[in-house]
Amino acid sequence: MPETFCNYINGEWVSGDTFENRNPANTDEVVGLHVKGSAADVTAAADAAAAAQAGWANMAGPARGNLLFKVAEILDRKFDQLGAEMTREEGKTLPEAKGEVRRAINIFRYFGGEGSRMPGMLVPSERDRVHMFALRKPIGVTGLITPWNFPIAIPAWKLAPALICGNTVVLKPASASPLSAYRIVEACHEAGIPKGVVNFVQGSGGELGSALVNAKPIKAVSFTGSCDVGNWLHAEASKRRLRIQLEMGGKNPTIVLADCDFNSAVENTVNAAMFSTGQKCTATSRVIVEDAIYDKFVAAIVERTKKLKVGNGMEAGIDIGPAVDKGQLETSLRYIEIGRKECGEPLCGGNRLTGGAYDKGYFVEPTIFGEVTESMTLAQEEVFGPVLAVMRAKDFEDAMRIANNIPFGLSASVQTTNISRVFEFIYRMEAGLLTVNLPSAGVEYQLPFGGTKDSSFGPKEQGPAAMDFYSDYKTVYLKY
Ligand code: NAP
Repeated sequence: MPETFCNYINGEWVSGDTFENRNPANTDEVVGLHVKGSAADVTAAADAAAAAQAGWANMAGPARGNLLFKVAEILDRKFDQLGAEMTREEGKTLPEAKGEVRRAINIFRYFGGEGSRMPGMLVPSERDRVHMFALRKPIGVTGLITPWNFPIAIPAWKLAPALICGNTVVLKPASASPLSAYRIVEACHEAGIPKGVVNFVQGSGGELGSALVNAKPIKAVSFTGSCDVGNWLHAEASKRRLRIQLEMGGKNPTIVLADCDFNSAVENTVNAAMFSTGQKCTATSRVIVEDAIYDKFVAAIVERTKKLKVGNGMEAGIDIGPAVDKGQLETSLRYIEIGRKECGEPLCGGNRLTGGAYDKGYFVEPTIFGEVTESMTLAQEEVFGPVLAVMRAKDFEDAMRIANNIPFGLSASVQTTNISRVFEFIYRMEAGLLTVNLPSAGVEYQLPFGGTKDSSFGPKEQGPAAMDFYSDYKTVYLKY
């Protein structure tokens, strides 16, 4: 019998009806049963958070920081277990899962340290004997809604800054991979974070979302996920003037110029497009190649992609795991069919993988379409799967124009050895996260994270910027 993972409200583990968390690489395996929360649970969680708010806010920042360090220690102790669980629930390969667990641990350490800094402002007054400063104060009860693709890092990068700034929270994880977020909550409990500070309600976002955004104590919502849900949340939150932060979809380009370091451009493109099954919000889904090297480059990425091993991410040597669930697999297959109609047969891949162990999971071949043009669906819509559109550009200027010709602006990459073009790209590319001679995906936690245009709304996540969403300034003028 699989283990049951409860909700966590006001320091108590709350049981109830459950839903299954199945392994997308082997759907015979139920990784766990998770309690299906109700709107009443969300309300109870928000009320518990409200009751705990003042006590948590009044605790000294370094003391809150020490509790975050303890959370990091507990997660570190369970490092191997957490990596394996993530591979089993989400499908990404074990090395990728372990890398993500390491990132979550580092995030708790990083924000734990902020407890002792809590940077405010102190500036000289124009007036005689006036001391003026601004200190940070928490916003209050915060709702956190997270997606399935980074099931431990994203809950960590919302929860840790929310807590260190003195907010209490209600966390709603994605239903496709709730166990990794559960482990963080369990670590918060074990670390001794006071009851009511962290609350955790699992279950369908469609059913719980409205209760969360309308719960009276909620003052802010941080959301990562699809544009449709984000836009709906924004409309709801605006009615109550909630503070809101949205990180949503992308259609990220990698520009490959004729003067690039060819082999690393091939590797960076394939890595960013295909690894994690293309299910990273920062994944490359359009590679825009300068005409002069188009044929040679396309041949090389196709050859490299054909060598990728698709399979169960728990096995050594596997590069790419399954789609997270049936819905995501079907989305990739649907876009592949659209690609076939709009631009012909793919240059590689194009099918669901079947036979043997593949029949038990949601595996799709890494797929590349060539000669994709700007008006085609594959050049405009996010697939969120291992499907890459290759586009031809006359020159650098044409590549920049194509790269910016989309409503999204999450990440973008350029592969070139020309320093002037690097700077042109940095200043003119309409995206929040830029990489140069690196894959478009693969960010660290010490700098701001987030996009622009339709990809994002509100202050950035991670790094020092995260503190700006989760706290407010109180400005003081003092005559002495
Ligand atoms: P999603 O369907 O929007 O789900 C995200 C979260 O929202 C889940 O917890 C989901 O719960 C919940 N949700 C669903 N309907 C809701 C509602 N009406 N009210 C409140 N919450 C609701 O997105 P996804 O399919 O999990 O994630 C894929 C998308 O996320 C892609 O577009 C990707 O680009 C984006 N993403 C963006 C970033 C970034 O930083 N920009 C990072 C990762 C992913 P259930 O799971 O129960 O449905």
